[in-house]
Amino acid sequence: MIQPLLLSSPPLSPGTTGDVTTHAPLNITADVAIVGGGIAGLTAAFLLKRAGKTVVVLEANQIAAGTSGHTTAKLTSLHQVIYADLIKEVGEEKARLYGESNQAAIEQVATWVAEENIDCDFSRQSAYSYAETHDHLDQVKAEVEAALRLGLPASFVQETTLPFPIAGAVKFEHQAQFHIRKYLLHLAQQIAGDGSYVFEHTRVETVEEGAPCRVITQQGVVQASDVIVTTNLPILDQGLFFAKSYAKRSYIIGAKIDPARAPQGMFIGVEQGYHSIRTTPHDGGLLLMIGGEGHKVGTVTHTEKNYQKLEAFAHERFGIDAIDYRWSTQDYVSFDKIPYIGRLTPFNEHIFVATGFSLWGMSNGTLSGMILTDAILGLENPWASLYDATRATPFLKPESLKENISVGVHWIGDRLKGLQSSTAALAAGEAKVLTVDGKKSALIETKPDRFTLFLRSALT
Ligand SMILES: Cc1cc2nc3c(=O)[nH]c(=O)nc-3n(C[C@H](O)[C@H](O)[C@H](O)COP(=O)(O)OP(=O)(O)OC[C@H]3O[C@@H](n4cnc5c(N)ncnc54)[C@H](O)[C@@H]3O)c2cc1C
Repeated sequence: MIQPLLLSSPPLSPGTTGDVTTHAPLNITADVAIVGGGIAGLTAAFLLKRAGKTVVVLEANQIAAGTSGHTTAKLTSLHQVIYADLIKEVGEEKARLYGESNQAAIEQVATWVAEENIDCDFSRQSAYSYAETHDHLDQVKAEVEAALRLGLPASFVQETTLPFPIAGAVKFEHQAQFHIRKYLLHLAQQIAGDGSYVFEHTRVETVEEGAPCRVITQQGVVQASDVIVTTNLPILDQGLFFAKSYAKRSYIIGAKIDPARAPQGMFIGVEQGYHSIRTTPHDGGLLLMIGGEGHKVGTVTHTEKNYQKLEAFAHERFGIDAIDYRWSTQDYVSFDKIPYIGRLTPFNEHIFVATGFSLWGMSNGTLSGMILTDAILGLENPWASLYDATRATPFLKPESLKENISVGVHWIGDRLKGLQSSTAALAAGEAKVLTVDGKKSALIETKPDRFTLFLRSALT
C-alpha cells in the first residue's frame, strides 16, 4: 500500500516540541487565540509571540498536518500565471502589491530559516511556469511582460532541465523550496512557553466577539483580546467565505529519482491538465514529487484514476516505474485570485481570518501571518487593504450553487439553498440584502451579466 508522505518528520507527541501538548485547554486567558495550526496560524502565532504577546494555538488534530503538511511547498511569488490577469482585473497597482507582498513573504521565511538555523531543507530555486505547446506561448509571454512591469524577477526561457521539450516558460529567479512540516514544527517550538501554548486535538466549536473574545472548545473556553481563525476555510459562517471561494483538490505522487536525471527547479504547467513538479531531499537521495489532476471538490468520485494518470505521466516523462508515496489534499480558491486576510466582517473588531490562498499558501499563508500580526499590534501594513477579507468580491455563481448542493456538501449546500432562492429574483445590476442560514445577511449585487454575484459586505 502506497502511503502519503506527510512531508513529515515523526508524529508530534507531548514533549517533542516544547510545550506543544494534547492537554485540554480548560480555561485560559491570553492576548491572542489562534484557531488552526497550519502555516497561516503558526506564522501568526510565531510573530505575535516574538512581539511580546501571549498566544494560544488551538488545533483540532495535529499541527502542520492539514493542507500545510501535504503540499508541494514551493515558496514562490510565481503563482502559475496570475500577473497579466491581475493587471487586467484589478489594475497595475494592486498587481504590484500582490507580487511585492509575496516576494516579501519569501524573504521573511528565508530570514527566519537563517536566523533560527531551521533545519528544513530550505534551498533557493528558480520557479518555472511552462507551456508545452505553442498554443499557450502567448499566455506565457504575456505573464513575463506583466511580471517585469511589476518589478518581479522574471524572464522568458525555452530551455529547462525537464526531460521533455517545452514551447516556453516564465522563469522567476531566487525563489525557494522547503520541508514545510519541519519548518512549522520549529516555529511551534518557539511559540509554546512563557504563558503561550500550542494545544493539539482541541477542536474549536465557535468564537464569540467581545471584550474579551471567547473561544469555545469541548474542553473549555479560551479568553483572548483578539482571535485569528486560520482553519483553511474559516469555521465561522459570518463573512460567507464558503461562498467567496471554492475547494480544489489535487493529487501528488512521490518517487525516488536518480539525482543525475532529476530536474533542477520548481515547475508548473500552464495548460489544462497541468502538472506541478519538484524534487526534495529524502532518505539520503532525492524524491521527485509530481502533482496534478486537480478538480473542484465534489466533481470527481473515482479518484484512483487521478493517481493512475499521474503515475503514467511519471513513467512517460521521467521513466519512473515505482511510486513510493501518494496523497491528495485540498485548498480554497478565491474567485478574484486574491486571498482574504483581515477582519471576519466589517463589524468584527477582534476576530480575523485568512483563507483563499488558491494553492499558493506557502507565501500567502506566511503573508497572512505578517498582515494579521500588524493588524493586532495596530501597525500600518502596506498590503493589508489589497487582501481585506471584507472587500467587495466575486461571489459563487448561481450554477455553482446547484453543483455544490448536488454533490452533498451539506454544510455549504444548506446555507446556499437560501442564497440561491434569494438571488434568483435579482435583475442585472441589482443589489439586495439577503438572509443566509436564517440568521445572517449579506449585501449581494449582480454584475450586468446577472450571473456573477458580488458580495458587497457580509453582515452579522
Ligand atoms: C495539492 C496541493 C499542493 C500545494 N502546493 C503548494 C505549493 O507548492 N506552494 C504553495 O505556496 N502552496 C501550495 N499549496 C497551498 C498550501 O498548501 C495551502 O494554501 C496552505 O497549506 C493552507 O494553509 P492553512 O494554514 O490555511 O491551512 P491548513 O494547513 O489546513 O491548517 C488549518 C488547520 O486548522 C485546523 N482546524 C480545522 N478546523 C478546526 C477547528 N474547528 N478547531 C481547531 N482547528 C481546526 C486543521 O486541522 C488544520 O490543521 C498546495 C495545495 C494543495 C492542495
